[in-house]
Amino acid sequence: MSSTNIVATPESLLRQEVLDLKAYPVPNSAGMVKLDAMENPYLLPQSLREEIARLVADAAINRYPDADAQQLKASIRAVIGLPQSLDILLGNGSDEIIQLLALAVAKPDATLLSVEPSFVMYRMIATFTGMQYVGVPLTEDFALNLPAVLAAMQHHRPALVFLSYPNNPTGNLFDAEVIAQIIEAAPGLVIVDEAYYAFANASLIPMLTCYPNLLVMRTFSKLGMAGLRLGFLVGSKAWIAQLEKLRLPYNVSVLTQLVAEKLLRHHDVLLLQSEQIKQDRVWLYERLVGVADVRPYVSNANFILFRVMHADKIFNELKKRGVLIKNLNKAHPLLVDCLRVTVGTPLENEQFIQALQESIHQFN
Ligand SMILES: *Cc1c(COP(=O)(O)O)cnc(C)c1O
Repeated sequence: MSSTNIVATPESLLRQEVLDLKAYPVPNSAGMVKLDAMENPYLLPQSLREEIARLVADAAINRYPDADAQQLKASIRAVIGLPQSLDILLGNGSDEIIQLLALAVAKPDATLLSVEPSFVMYRMIATFTGMQYVGVPLTEDFALNLPAVLAAMQHHRPALVFLSYPNNPTGNLFDAEVIAQIIEAAPGLVIVDEAYYAFANASLIPMLTCYPNLLVMRTFSKLGMAGLRLGFLVGSKAWIAQLEKLRLPYNVSVLTQLVAEKLLRHHDVLLLQSEQIKQDRVWLYERLVGVADVRPYVSNANFILFRVMHADKIFNELKKRGVLIKNLNKAHPLLVDCLRVTVGTPLENEQFIQALQESIHQFN
């Protein structure tokens, strides 16, 4: 054995952009009222849970999953009414799909463009796949700044443009007409991320047949299945066939395929829960409007962004009272003093409002 061997350290071996990254922060939420991560607060009805238990009991987990997930894809196709000319790619969560898209185009100097503030994984994934990242600021009221996006596309020629619709963390839907203009001017692919479609009554899936460079991505996470890890991308057969080559063969597990397919057959149950959350969003918004010094933003998603004075202090006071939300104060200049709360059960929403009122009192 050689004793002169120099042992590698992370600093000596890793790419600089990896060393510079901060891991996606997931705070400890044990015992808290958890309103930080846009999860659906509801469990499934007992009878459906028992059906799932039986499915899992009989599942052949000694075998690899169906690599094509044919049945699951057929169910998704039926539920969203996808035309035959379009195809579906499945991911282990939609985060994996963002990564796969980036890997597919990451030639030296390839650029991923998004708007800011938006979903932080667009930037993170661009960085760790070696892509250039460009973030075009939204306007003060969180709308797309079309001239700025067009100019940035002209200048950087992005391979990928990501638009979250509705947008996370601001909650608004961008103007579909403006998105259409971006798609028409884009030199590469435009991916519309519909993670929150169930709370929005809006989708750009109908536009897919008009624009070959448009892809639409969805996830089951915000619909009540965050724990399953399943997302999908829809687009033309030509694009999906190429992207399929980068998908790891068994990325969607046997259990995920079985359970997701079962739940799609009970899509009405999930939609009912989403309807409840939409109603409670109205309640929560109105209560926030009524709290002194709080300015909530209208949301088409299952969360509400709001501005307060002393956001860091309020966030910590809420935490002391057992309520965990998301602090966005330092996330972007347009988000100064902003916090984001996920719509929970009516009881959780009450607990949050109560804790918020108490917290604000502390500093007035
Ligand atoms: C939550 C979220 C995702 C990621 O969802 P997963 O399927 O859980 O990976 C993607 N895009 C946006 C905008 C999100 O908010």
